[in-house]
This record gives sequence, C-alpha cells and structure tokens, in this order.
Amino acid sequence: MDESELDLGPLVDHHCHGLVLDDLQRADFESLMNEAAGPSALGTTLFDSMLGLAVRRWCAPVLGLEPLASAADYLQRRRDLGAREASRRLVAAAGISTFLVDTGIRDDRLCTPGELARLGSGTAHEVVRLETVAEGVLDDGAGPAAFADEVEERLRSSGAVGAKSIAAYRVGLDLPATRPSAGELTAALADVRPGADGRHRLAHAVVHAWLAWTAIELAMPLQLHVGFGDNDLDLLACDPLRLTPFLRATQDRGVPVLLLHNYPFHRNAAYLAQAYDQVFLDVGLAVHNTGALSAALVRETLEVAPFGKLLFSTDAYGLAENYLLGAHLFRRALGQVVGRLLDDGEITRDEAARLADLVARSNARRVYRADLG
Ligand SMILES: [Zn+2]
Repeated sequence: MDESELDLGPLVDHHCHGLVLDDLQRADFESLMNEAAGPSALGTTLFDSMLGLAVRRWCAPVLGLEPLASAADYLQRRRDLGAREASRRLVAAAGISTFLVDTGIRDDRLCTPGELARLGSGTAHEVVRLETVAEGVLDDGAGPAAFADEVEERLRSSGAVGAKSIAAYRVGLDLPATRPSAGELTAALADVRPGADGRHRLAHAVVHAWLAWTAIELAMPLQLHVGFGDNDLDLLACDPLRLTPFLRATQDRGVPVLLLHNYPFHRNAAYLAQAYDQVFLDVGLAVHNTGALSAALVRETLEVAPFGKLLFSTDAYGLAENYLLGAHLFRRALGQVVGRLLDDGEITRDEAARLADLVARSNARRVYRADLG
C-alpha cells in the first residue's frame, strides 16, 4: 500500500510551542533549527543533517521553490515572502487542527497560541509549565508559607488542559514515589535564591518532585520532558526508566502521564506505556530531527507501545518548518508502519484506519478530557 492511501486526516498536536515570526538571517534560522545552540564555529552547518535535508526537500515546495533548493535560496525565498507569510503557508500545509501549546518558555519572540491557531486555521489550548508558574510565584515574592497555596491556585485557575514538567532539564527524572511533605517543601525553598537579575530559576529535586505530584493531585494530565533536548540537559539523567517508582506510585490515580520526545529512549518509553495504564508517549522533536529516517523511530516505538498510547506531536518551536516536517514525516512513517501490516494481511483496512485515527487525534481527545475542537 502506498502510504498516501492512509489518510490520517487533521492532527491533534499535543505538544508544541510558539513561532518566531520575524525575518531571519541564516545564523538565526540555524540556531532555531534543532537543539544545538547553533551552527558550529568549527565550520559545519545544520543544513547538512537529516533535518536540513528535510527542510530543503519538503518545505521548499510549500514556499514555491523546487524540491531540494539550496539552503541559501530557501532562506532568501523565506525572507522575500516574509516570515509571517512563509510560516502561514507551512503551518497550514501541516494539516494540524488542534494545537496544545506549552507556553512556559520565556522568549518574547514567540507568538501566542492564538496567533498560532490563526496561522493554521485551527484551535489552540494552553499547557501550563509547572516550573514557570512556580518561578513566577517566587518572583512575586511569595515566601515558603504561601508558595504551595499560590502555585496550586494559579494552576487551578490557569484554564490549561494539562501541565508540563521540565524536571529532566533541571534535576533529572528521579522523581520520588511519594509527594514531598509540606515540611520538606519549606526546607527546600529555603535553598532557592533568585539570580543576579532578581528572577528565580528552579533546580531543586524536592521542588520539581512536589510540582509533578501537585499536577497529579489536581488531576491535571502531566507532560514530562524525557530524552534529548537543548544542550543544557544531561541526557544521562533523562532515561524514562528512572521514572519507574513515580509511575508505579501514580498508576492508580487515574491521571494521564505523557512522556514527551523520548529519543533515544523511545523503546524504554514504549515499554512504560505498555506496562502502566496511565502512561502515554510521543516521539515529537525526534521525527523532524531524524527526517527521512524517522519511519524507523515510529516503527520501533510501536513494537510494544499500544496504538492507544501513542500521541502525535511536533514539538515545533520557533520555526514553522518544524510543524510541516513533524506532521508530514509522522504521517508518512505511521502510514508506512500500518500500510505494511495491511499489505501483509496482519490487519484489515478498517482496523488500519481505526488505529491511525487513535494516534492522529482520538488518543489526545481521550487523554486531555477537554473539548479540544
Ligand atoms: Zn517542547
């Protein structure tokens, strides 16, 4: 079966970010392309990567260029159109109907969820970042006594469809099997100090653990960053298997826990999704970074992860190219996996369509228990 025969329809992107809608010179574009800080001073370019090749192959035609136009021609065309119009074309071509946007990155260049939804003619919902809320409470001068109540109140009144933890970035994924007590939290907060700019940047195992447990207590679907990310992350501490005590302790709470990205631990995450009722996963970010090789990633994930546990996400950030690539490459990869099963007589056509629908949108609608549109 040709993968184009399996029409996934509009996608629910359950983890993504705002876009930079300013015109970008090459160095700025490359610094947003992936999780490196930018092109290497030692003379390499991120266009010579699976991601860079995929931009030239799949994004160039959306901007009216031949496939595989040079990087220089591509970036010139992007500026000629204007970043906003180029982004509109790319996001629209991604075919995403619903965006669940992590609004926790403090970067004034990023557009709002509302702008993103307009670019894609879809709807957007907010996922609130636990650490950003907590840091805001500390920045506002709340002492340890008021901290817990104020964080809980801000989460409850946020209107967000879920909460996200970046414990992986700050302290790693050794979340404990019990919620830190009020006394433990107070003692931990005594160690937390603002930086030279007067703002707080949390990096305390007890506080991150308390935040993750608070999301569970408030019954907010909890997204956890897992696996690779920016280069300030210690990947060794980001294997999802480190979450096992936390997952075992939360499995009867009925609150979904969503493991994001996961690469290169996607098989470990797939196992956890199979083993624990409340665990779901995605391979966002990794799909566009692995470009034409991403089908293997999706296939390896589905070796043991049930179809009812895999969600679609782009983890697009900054560049609209990552929306287009995340969606297109994921459609293609899932189409290849399911299409192969169909060709081999392992499933019926109706089952292929049903399983693809779970991953494309229905799992997200079930997990977030909100009217996602
Ligand atoms: Zn992200």
